[in-house]
Amino acid sequence: MTGKQLKVLRAALQKLRAQALLTGPAPIKPNTRDETQVGTVDEDAQALGEMLQVLSSQRNKGQKELLARIDAALRRVNDDPDDFGRCQDCEEAIPVKRLELMPYATLCAACQTKRDPQRGAARKKITDYQ
Ligand SMILES: [Zn+2]
Repeated sequence: MTGKQLKVLRAALQKLRAQALLTGPAPIKPNTRDETQVGTVDEDAQALGEMLQVLSSQRNKGQKELLARIDAALRRVNDDPDDFGRCQDCEEAIPVKRLELMPYATLCAACQTKRDPQRGAARKKITDYQ
């Protein structure tokens, strides 16, 4: 990775970090009737409210994790720039295109898929709350 690429990625990380901090945790909506759901019965509105609460708390959690990943990547870029962008599993260089989209990535796409095959399946667990 060139010094210029590192500089670009560090700037991208700092921008992402600022955005994540600016957005902050999503407020948890009180369980009130959603005005956009006119015509639905109260039971439906309540179910929707509960679902929104679950989604909101999941979003907060995701955002906190993202911020931690961004911070870790910034540390790597500063402390260990020679190794930045190297996949933690196979130690191949992560393609710069992937890093430009996800500068906090620690794995190449292939290793990410191997390590995290359940990704997406976890989202379906929202039905557990219903
Ligand atoms: Zn890899």
